[in-house]
Amino acid sequence: MADATLAPTLDDWKARAARARIPTEAVIDGKSVASASGQTFDCVSPLDGRLLARVAAGDAEDIDRAVRAARASFESGVWSNRAPAERKKVLLRLAALMLEHREELALLETLDMGKPIGDSSRIDIPGAAGCIAWFAEIVDKVYDEIAPTDPSALAMITREPVGVVGAVVPWNFPLYMASWKVGPALATGNSVVLKPAEQSPLTALRLGELALEAGVPPGVLNVVPGFGETAGRALGLHMDVDAVTFTGSTEVGKYFLEYAGKSNMKHVSLECGGKSPHIVMADCPDLDQAARAAATGIFFNQGEVCNAGSRLLVDETIKDAFLDKVMAHGRKLQPGDPLDPKTRMGAIVDERQLGRVLGYIEAGKKDGAQLKMGGTRVRADSGGYYVEPTVFDGVDNKMKIAQEEIFGPVLATITFKDVADAIRIGNDSIYGLAAAVWTRDLTTAHKMARALRAGTVWINCFDHGDNTVPFGGYKQSGLGRDKSRHALDKYTQLKTTWIHLGR
Ligand code: NAD
Repeated sequence: MADATLAPTLDDWKARAARARIPTEAVIDGKSVASASGQTFDCVSPLDGRLLARVAAGDAEDIDRAVRAARASFESGVWSNRAPAERKKVLLRLAALMLEHREELALLETLDMGKPIGDSSRIDIPGAAGCIAWFAEIVDKVYDEIAPTDPSALAMITREPVGVVGAVVPWNFPLYMASWKVGPALATGNSVVLKPAEQSPLTALRLGELALEAGVPPGVLNVVPGFGETAGRALGLHMDVDAVTFTGSTEVGKYFLEYAGKSNMKHVSLECGGKSPHIVMADCPDLDQAARAAATGIFFNQGEVCNAGSRLLVDETIKDAFLDKVMAHGRKLQPGDPLDPKTRMGAIVDERQLGRVLGYIEAGKKDGAQLKMGGTRVRADSGGYYVEPTVFDGVDNKMKIAQEEIFGPVLATITFKDVADAIRIGNDSIYGLAAAVWTRDLTTAHKMARALRAGTVWINCFDHGDNTVPFGGYKQSGLGRDKSRHALDKYTQLKTTWIHLGR
């Protein structure tokens, strides 16, 4: 074991991995439990294809148990009726516990979904704890309203928790995305049933345990691991779930709209896919900085990022020189052992996703795009799933690799002639999650920011943000917003209380 004051090395992380405790049971009504059916599913590490653990496979019965526990806790008022300042204290304890367990959580995240340990320990876990703390801090600072009615009435507009919230999250930032839901949902007094992705259940299970340790009452945060088609579907169709908050693919997001229509018209908010245009104008203020941002914008987290800058739109007059710079940065991001603190690109989440990514690379070649860099599986002898940073040039925006979300380290380069052309191509997508523009012209920057149909537009940077700003999509990238005080809208509903005072 390394000196605690030194950053752990690859050998330290391997030793820790060998003796790590892997949580495998659902957390329902304050207890760790097996699935009602006794069924489990294999949790396989993408690092080396090794079986990490057999995790409880929750299905409709487990979801029902969890929803009943959530409902009972909500109705009892043990959390929903607590003063916001009291909920704040408990959630700040939870955030502190997450940071205390940062290395343990980072290790689980890396083993489970393949991201580099440097990222999980420096980005995912502190980011998740920070989000919980941010929503803890805001909730005793928001006020309700009195409406400007006729003086004969007093009309109060108050926010109330929606009740039981189902949270369904993906595998690319498992704990981080869970915190975007659980933070505001718990802060506003709801009870929650969290269903992590089947590819990455471990940190969510640990979150459920830590929440109990922090003092979140039993039944208020339940975590049910299981497959989308069983557990996820059951949550979407449950008649006693008041709201579903989902992050995942556009395809599955649409199922949740259907589930709501077929059941109790529960509120649905969706954070879905993207195909973000990363636009570099000829007057880009710093081509080196933009090239670094373009490379990390697609290769960070193995390209498994909803807002990845997967379409690089470059002015045709600077394209060749710019792309050389992007590739020079990309070459430095070769996949390595995710447990090595020096690794900057890790493993693809599972064998199925590996197949999907390689399939898109083949489609790009078949459609006539030029493969300039990467394009193959590497480190296969490890037993894990790794793909080189891959760059296509000569892409037409109509091609499959420009239209569909690959969710892997594959960049599609497209040229444009002028501002109007860049906006047209940028907006020619079913998605509208994010976009970026590099220009030194203030007018171009503002005009493009207005014209691009995306929930976030970055100017002269990429993927910047914090808890203070909303995040979410236009078009088929979603409905509703995570983060910021606007996220509170998803977890509360407005009540009007009209008191007749008389004259
Ligand atoms: P996914 O849609 O396959 O799965 C997401 C969740 O839905 C998982 O928990 C899964 O078990 C569940 N699910 C799957 N099928 C289901 C069904 N039929 N019924 C109910 N639930 C079901 O997505 P993924 O592959 O886990 O994650 C990648 C996707 O997530 C990408 O499209 C990415 O863009 C998106 N994403 C979006 C954001 C955002 O904020 N907009 C953030 C991260 C990821």
